[in-house]
Amino acid sequence: MTTPPPPALFLSRVERRYVQGTSTLDILRGADLAVWPGEIVALVAPSGTGKSTLLHVAGLLERPDAGEVYVGAKPTVALDDAERTRLRRVDIGFVYQFHHLLPEFSALENVVMPQLIRGLDKHVARQRATDLLSFLGLAQRLDHRPAELSGGEQQRVAIARAVANGPRVLLADEPTGNLDPHTADHVFATLIALVRAARVGAIIATHNRELAQRMDRRVTIRDGIVVSLD
Ligand code: ADP
Repeated sequence: MTTPPPPALFLSRVERRYVQGTSTLDILRGADLAVWPGEIVALVAPSGTGKSTLLHVAGLLERPDAGEVYVGAKPTVALDDAERTRLRRVDIGFVYQFHHLLPEFSALENVVMPQLIRGLDKHVARQRATDLLSFLGLAQRLDHRPAELSGGEQQRVAIARAVANGPRVLLADEPTGNLDPHTADHVFATLIALVRAARVGAIIATHNRELAQRMDRRVTIRDGIVVSLD
């Protein structure tokens, strides 16, 4: 009998609070969320409810005050900072509303870079970057710098960069929020295709109900826990 694969990401009873002066803000109060390989979860919640907090905890950028964060089968809370950083580089990709590409480097180099930081061979990294950018329809733009690309193209490069190291998990915060509706639609479609093809587990925070509807399921944060919207 084969054991089923673990979730790509599993938040278990996650708590996160911020202390400010004499008051405490309980933002996450025992949040649970499992994301399976190839699954795309829309995180739809009013601002101030804890979306960024949840993404930061899921992305190992912040440690929860209680609970556990599993990446694959691996518990991460007790790991030291160096090990969490290593895991973040390899297993987690981030896409933000603004692309944050390095302006002085080409599209190809921007996608090669995280692979070199991880220690991959230069030729392997270039081939993978070329394949990814081609998959995203950018084969003719490899040598363009970010300023020589349209907004939608820049965001597709940012998506390629996020998955360059073959992460288990992709975390995106309004990845198409800065694009016009038509371009957003196209970028979103390529993002979904890539996540499914690579069997990455994705959480995509968005205010766009129509895009959320195209994901596998929708969740929100209510009173500090993750609740299904379906
Ligand atoms: P969202 O992404 O849903 O807008 P956030 O996760 O950014 O919400 O923030 C949730 C709440 O926690 C907000 O009220 C915010 O002011 C507060 N908060 C976030 N980060 C901090 C921090 N580092 N220190 C104090 N309060 C914070």
